[in-house]
Amino acid sequence: MSFSTRCRVRTIGLALAFAGLVVLPLAAQRENVDLDAIYKIKQQGFQSSHVMEIMSELTDVYGPRLTGSPSITKAAEWAMKEMTGWGLVNVKMEPWGPFGRGWENERTVVLAVAPDAFPIIGYSKAWAAGTNGPVRAEVAYAPIASEADFAKYTGKLKGKFVFISTPREIDAHFEADARRYTDEDLDRIAMETDKNPRGARRFNFDRTFPGKRMDFLKTEGALAVFDESRGDDGTVFVQGGGSRDPKVTPTMPEITIAAEHYGRIVRMVEKNVPVTLEIDIKNTFFPADQNVFNIVGEIPGTDKADEIVMLGGHFDSWHGGTGATDNAAGSAVMMEAMRILKASGLKMRRTVRIGLWSGEEQGLLGSRAYVKEHFADPATMQLKPEHAKLSGYFNVDNGTGAIRGVYLQGNEMVAPIFRQWMQPFRNLGMTQLSIDDTGGTDHLSFDAVGLPGFQFIQDPIDYSTRTHHSNMDVYERIQAPDMMQNPVIVAAFVYEAANRDEMLPRKPLPEPRPPRF
Ligand SMILES: [Zn+2]
Repeated sequence: MSFSTRCRVRTIGLALAFAGLVVLPLAAQRENVDLDAIYKIKQQGFQSSHVMEIMSELTDVYGPRLTGSPSITKAAEWAMKEMTGWGLVNVKMEPWGPFGRGWENERTVVLAVAPDAFPIIGYSKAWAAGTNGPVRAEVAYAPIASEADFAKYTGKLKGKFVFISTPREIDAHFEADARRYTDEDLDRIAMETDKNPRGARRFNFDRTFPGKRMDFLKTEGALAVFDESRGDDGTVFVQGGGSRDPKVTPTMPEITIAAEHYGRIVRMVEKNVPVTLEIDIKNTFFPADQNVFNIVGEIPGTDKADEIVMLGGHFDSWHGGTGATDNAAGSAVMMEAMRILKASGLKMRRTVRIGLWSGEEQGLLGSRAYVKEHFADPATMQLKPEHAKLSGYFNVDNGTGAIRGVYLQGNEMVAPIFRQWMQPFRNLGMTQLSIDDTGGTDHLSFDAVGLPGFQFIQDPIDYSTRTHHSNMDVYERIQAPDMMQNPVIVAAFVYEAANRDEMLPRKPLPEPRPPRF
């Protein structure tokens, strides 16, 4: 047989083998996407959506849902009543702890009284002390950035309201606050590789300094501490201060105010014009570990009822606004997805369980406690029986924006599956998978013990520029069309995962290690 014939035979052989290779996995990976079910889910989600009512209840009626506060319990009782009304079962609170004491703000008055009177947009930090009625004092500007600055202000702060941050230059907004991902953005996200395994946030500053500065101010007899909010246009980004530790006596009011008001006051003080403010802040502390729970509920499965698919997001929020985009939006999307699945009457082989977590803003505490209780402790990786029964967990916690794809958290094996599940939603803009992981939220608690946990890629809208942990995180910032399509997509993914013959493929189990966040 001549050389050329042999080559031709080998080439044909190779081609056939390759075709076989290509054909084989594609066939193996073909998912039975149930378009009838998708149609029913879309009907339910687009024709009789409840998502914006859920949003208004969680935000307008129940307000901010700080973990440990009575408000989060009231909001949870409403959510549980709703879900039970939809026909979900095993709807309950699962307490966890330790967390520390609760806190709630009931009154905030911050205003300038001299040389000119004007109202100030300001918020108490969570867990900071209040005042015992109205208090007036002069402002001392003391930009203390390190311990080296203590000497400069020793003996000058007694009886003063101390302004500790340096005012920023405020730029005009030449770019819109809100935006949607372009195809180029999505391609860039898709190309990002696994640069930060398991998505741990890195804090590279001296965490002890704020505490030392607070001790210095207390010793010097300051009456309250003020800092300038990032952001502008009267938007105040405010989180925690004080301490959740019931053994620590709260003494110092800590207030974050709008940049525009902070700047005006500092510029006057720097001109040696005395500025007097009046504050009246009523904060209440609650006994430790009260109002601390996760909310769960289920739609029972059929022939694989002992296996579960979970969906969720955090229910808690910070206190400046009503926690609308962070994360009533994710909670409402997940509740609505459960309503859609139940109302559609579709049967699911695996049990579907919703998890609405608390303590997320303080370090994913609720979801970590849940995973440790039900699946495994990442520090020991001792697996509990349920660990083998969870197919996957889907999380939403990136604001109100439309779902554009999924972060795969380094799990290549699910890519061909999700790619096919996304097909019916291409016309809604869901087109992208990113192998990369995304950090900072509750899917990490599942990923930390080797369970498939996924966060969706969402349009940013004005999440980081306006709403994330700010006083403007309110219902008005919610995009209704996005909020209507997101539960449809989540319900479809959960439906497919609940009815797939196999559970979702997993990454290798991680080594035992203490949580890094
Ligand atoms: Zn969040």
